[in-house]
Parts: sequence; C-alpha cells; structure tokens
Amino acid sequence: MCRENCTFIEILRSVIIQNIRAITEQIIAAAHHANRNPSDITLIAVTKTHPPDVIMQAVAAGLHHLGENRVQEADEKITALAAERARLRWHLIGHLQSNKAKRAAHLFDMIHSLDSVALAERLNRHRAALEAVPPLPVLLQVNISGEDTKEGFAMRPDPTSARLDAFVQAVAAIAALPALDVQGLMTIAPYSDEPEQARPVFAALRTLRDQLRQHCPNLALPHLSMGMTNDFTVAIEEGATFVRVGRAIFGERPPLH
Ligand SMILES: *Cc1c(COP(=O)(O)O)cnc(C)c1O
Repeated sequence: MCRENCTFIEILRSVIIQNIRAITEQIIAAAHHANRNPSDITLIAVTKTHPPDVIMQAVAAGLHHLGENRVQEADEKITALAAERARLRWHLIGHLQSNKAKRAAHLFDMIHSLDSVALAERLNRHRAALEAVPPLPVLLQVNISGEDTKEGFAMRPDPTSARLDAFVQAVAAIAALPALDVQGLMTIAPYSDEPEQARPVFAALRTLRDQLRQHCPNLALPHLSMGMTNDFTVAIEEGATFVRVGRAIFGERPPLH
C-alpha cells in the first residue's frame, strides 16, 4: 500500500478495501443476529456511475458480483472489463425497457428487475436465440410499498386474494418460459435515514415469497434481493440473500442516480 505521493486510485483503493471490510463485518453480525449463515448472503457492489478502473478496485478486494441499473452503461463496462468476464457476475438491478431486452438477455448473469409477463416473454425469446447459454436467472421486482415512483408488480403488505391470485398467475406464466429461471423476488424500500422504516417492506416480500411457494410448490424461489446502503442489515435480518450496496462501498454518487 502506498505511503506518500499516493495517486487518486491508490487512495480510493484503500478506502474501498476498508469500506468492504466494514460492510462484511456488518453482514456477518446481522446474519448471526438472525441465526442465519453469512455465506447465504451475497454482497452485490452497485457500480452505476463508477468507471472501470474504480470498479476494478472492488473486484481486486474480492467482490465479483456487480450491479448496474442501465443496460447501455453496463454494456460499456462489461466490454471494458472483458478480460475479467469469467470471474464476474453482472446483475441488472434497474428498470429494463423492452427495446433493451435483447441486449440484456445477452449481457447479464441475473436480472433483478423483471416487472411484467410481456417483458419476460421478450427476454425469453432473445435468451432462447443465444447458443450454449443456460436459462437466464431472473427475480421478479415487487412494489410492496405502493409508492407511485417504484417499478415492479404492484403489491401491498397484505394483498387482497384477487391481487395475490393475479401475481401467482403471472409468476406461473413466467416460470413456464424455458429460457428463464425464476429464482425469487426483489424490492426497493422507500428511501429513509431510519433503517427500521424498511423492515415491514422486507418482511412483506419474504411473506409473499412464502405464499408463492405454497401456490407453486415446484418453484424453490431461494432468493430475496433487498437492502441497500441505508438498510441492508435490516434486510438481512428479514431474509435477504442479495444485498445491493453502492454508496457504502464507493461513496456518494452524483445526483440523479
Ligand atoms: C443505486 C441502487 C442501489 C444501491 O444504492 P446505495 O444507496 O448506493 O447502496 C441498490 N439497488 C438499486 C435498484 C439501485 O438503483
């Protein structure tokens, strides 16, 4: 590690290493608190807005799961980091426009933001057209909190049976698509400085997953993608298997991201 005349990237590297160390300790503590195995939780480094040389500092520190929220931006970085492709797992965590489905089906290792049957059908068609690739792992994004601004299947903490039935139908239709592999659910809690505010949203996502399992016994739905910088420890206590963390690793982003 450098001691004097450090370059920007060397300083950033040591900050990122310290941040990842602190987050990892928090993940382990939250898991133990909930009687969970820390190795069941995967930390996704959310790399949106950050250039490849910055991303590489997190990769060098041991994070191989990377999250991007825009297809075009991810495409450029995946190309720039092509030499690392085999050891990296790229997750799409932002809204997917249908005209980007073809590219997304090719680029990503997992899509967290699947939010309609029509989009699923499109992704399935494009994934099926690729040669020698496994089914694309997908998570269904659910809007639990009812905020207008959030993408996802509209749900409530206590959904009516009609709403739940409609969601079960949608999940069953998506699960029947051969080139997609439905692995669970994803949500974004409303922004708050008070992490406990997010707990009911995360608990509701887990309950919804458990209800889906009862209705679709052939679906294991092992994954819950929930928790960001402000609330990932609460999400882990409520069952998160993927936490998506940006600012706690890389620092604040420019606004509007
Ligand atoms: C940006 C983003 C994150 C990471 O947010 P931080 O507050 O930086 O941890 C997680 N999930 C999604 C969907 C995002 O868009």
